[in-house]
Amino acid sequence: MNRILKDGLTPDYGIKEVNETMEPCSLCGGELEEKKVEVIKKADGKVVVIKEVPALVCQQCGERYFSIDTVEHVNQILKEVSEQKVKLQKIRAGELDFKAVAL
Ligand SMILES: [Zn+2]
Repeated sequence: MNRILKDGLTPDYGIKEVNETMEPCSLCGGELEEKKVEVIKKADGKVVVIKEVPALVCQQCGERYFSIDTVEHVNQILKEVSEQKVKLQKIRAGELDFKAVAL
């Protein structure tokens, strides 16, 4: 991994580039650890959960960083999902409004 990207908190869980160095975490300075994570995106009006995505995860704050290659791979998956070239496995899911639960 040469260039590192950060999983941004955009409404569609977009992945944003933040820096070009491998360590440490650009948010908190914590140590990064190689892990396989789930990436949740939208494509073709559907929520797509991509499993086993290689990432660097901050051991302190949990921020996730992805290489450019990984982001390109994720984008290719989303493109093929949109074009219905790959089949999605059905998963159990549900949605609700933020206000559905009161504090
Ligand atoms: Zn961190």
